[in-house]
Amino acid sequence: MKHKLNFNILTLFPEMFPGSLGMSLAGKALERGDWGYSTVNIRDYGIGTHNAVDDAPYGGGAGMVMRADVIESALLSLPKAVRKIYLSPRGKPLTQNLVQELAATPDITLLCGRYEGVDQRVLDAYDFEEVSIGDYVLSGGEPAALILMDACIRLLDGVMGNSETVSEESFSNGLLEYPHYTRPAEWQTRCGDTLDAPKVLTSGDHKKIAAWRDEERLDITRKIRPDLLEKK
Ligand code: SAM
Repeated sequence: MKHKLNFNILTLFPEMFPGSLGMSLAGKALERGDWGYSTVNIRDYGIGTHNAVDDAPYGGGAGMVMRADVIESALLSLPKAVRKIYLSPRGKPLTQNLVQELAATPDITLLCGRYEGVDQRVLDAYDFEEVSIGDYVLSGGEPAALILMDACIRLLDGVMGNSETVSEESFSNGLLEYPHYTRPAEWQTRCGDTLDAPKVLTSGDHKKIAAWRDEERLDITRKIRPDLLEKK
């Protein structure tokens, strides 16, 4: 069966997949065959009796580096993918624009690093793009791969109940989302306060609601992420 989106994951920990993506909406979409994945255990391509996948860095320094020849063998066990991504803290940021682009790419290979990372030569020789999920360092690429996959899967047709949900969300047009409210309209907190949902939202006036939401989106973006407005 041809999936709309297929991930081939190179990892030392295949048991981390599908992880949280086997549940909820992504899990149902996986069962339906909307998306699929396969894992390659890099260890299976390790060297010698201990299946070594790493070695000390040339030039010295802390930690170990994943060997280029081992990763190459693991990579070549896979069919050719349209895009090859190495999850890496020094990569370009995973933005909603990039997610949209990736969600329209049928086959993606994801390389999950461990230790100090991977020998640069395999990244250069096989044209890996480097993608980061944020300016912090994780101990391995697997959680980053799951985040990238989650963000792409929810954009596939039919995965989210309502396509408006996606088009109105944060980053969909360079703004953060407006705040949400639901029942009760008047909420008595246990601290003794009474908090009302904004009256306009219960007015039934859809024009006014849309205008209020637009204003809130701008306001929140201005306060929390002014950098997004500068990019618009
Ligand atoms: N020595 C590397 C550095 O300073 O850039 C960090 C290596 S990290 C301990 C091990 C692996 O975790 C990386 O090879 C990468 O696959 C993954 N990783 C860590 N932080 C990440 C991030 N912010 N985004 C994506 N992948 C990340």
